[in-house]
Amino acid sequence: MVFGTSCYGRFCRIIFAASLLLFVVANSFAQSSFRDEVKAGQTIVVRAGRMFDPSTGRMFEGPVIVIVGNKITSVSSGTPTAVSGATPIDLGDATLLPGFIDAHTHLTSDAGGGGYEGLVISSPRAALIGAKNVRLTLLAGFTAVRSVGVEGYSDVALRDAINVGDVIGHRMHVSGPPLSEPTVSQIGRGLYAYISDNDASANSTFLVGQAGILVVDTGLNETEGAKLLAAIRRVSALPVKYVVNTHYHPDHQGGNAVVGPSATVISTDFTRERTLALQKNSGMKAFHFEPANLTFQDQVTLHLEPYTARVYFPGRAHTSGDALVYFPEQQAISMGDLFLNHSSPAMDDGSVESWIHALDLVLELPLERVVPGHFELATKPELRRFRDYLNDLYEQVRKMKQKNETLEQVQHDIHMEKYADFRQYPKYEATFTSNAASIYQQIQTH
Ligand SMILES: [Zn+2]
Ligand SMILES: [Zn+2]
Repeated sequence: MVFGTSCYGRFCRIIFAASLLLFVVANSFAQSSFRDEVKAGQTIVVRAGRMFDPSTGRMFEGPVIVIVGNKITSVSSGTPTAVSGATPIDLGDATLLPGFIDAHTHLTSDAGGGGYEGLVISSPRAALIGAKNVRLTLLAGFTAVRSVGVEGYSDVALRDAINVGDVIGHRMHVSGPPLSEPTVSQIGRGLYAYISDNDASANSTFLVGQAGILVVDTGLNETEGAKLLAAIRRVSALPVKYVVNTHYHPDHQGGNAVVGPSATVISTDFTRERTLALQKNSGMKAFHFEPANLTFQDQVTLHLEPYTARVYFPGRAHTSGDALVYFPEQQAISMGDLFLNHSSPAMDDGSVESWIHALDLVLELPLERVVPGHFELATKPELRRFRDYLNDLYEQVRKMKQKNETLEQVQHDIHMEKYADFRQYPKYEATFTSNAASIYQQIQTH
């Protein structure tokens, strides 16, 4: 958040966004009548009790602001010189502030907006959430914002609606969807890591055998699945014979129908049960689920000559029924959300204690490459650091709980400075404090 940089008139050092008057008007007058006056190039003289000057850090009394058309032409104090034909606005003893600028906003979504259900908010709905938020942000004193990276074009719709006066809001600079691309790296013979460019959609791994392809995780939805399939097709034209879903979260299986329409879909029994439940959830109607038609409890080995893939349940971890996929010939593994590179993970109804144990066993395997559920491709040291994060947090919470600290005290007292580079995603409850809360509750129920 920074102050504006434009300045006008005698108090040139006072950083004073022209849109201050938008703020004044949004509070005091009907937007339409103001707009008519601005269009007519009319002069408005605003008076108030005092004004904050950020260049000196001091208030001064009796500001008088002259606005011609949509520009502030002067800011002075004391008695205003009469301006003929001017419309006076007297704000009494109100205090004026320069308009704030926020250079990094996501106004078309709400913080803490519903975990996985937040993934199914449509662009039109996002624009309406934005209409609520721009008004609140304006009334909090922000007169210009940058909106950075939304799915779809809800931010563009919002900016245009503000500009024509349909929605009351601040000046918006918008980006639309982020400009990025997934990356595909060969990580062994016949084996490829697909690193998603969308944080809300999982990474994938694909193995190209002599007669067909195995794909691990298919992304959030049809769009992400189509991006993945296009990447696979740049490598091989063989049919996708198997799809493995590491767990039931939509960001790992929403692309099943697109990526492998005739593939055998494989998951743990637990993942299939949870997927069937999601299908019945009215909040998830935007997803087209393709639940597994081959399930297992402990492990299953797939033979894609000349390679093999060992799919196994590592014990309760991120969920109660994750699957990992180990490729022995390539010494590589697909971790699903048991590993997020440089990030705190989301924690579903799994168990952090057994999660750490599962990671210890993975670290004993011969491993050249590790494909995380999200973010950059990794090797053993990054996986070990993630394991250490979970273990460190677990031990801290356990010891504080033994001293009968409340959850709020624990969340306040944990030391995570060593992991300052870890991504924090409040929207998915993937933060130090929400991870601490999960651990606290898991210990409680032991
Ligand atoms: Zn995920
Ligand atoms: Zn997940």
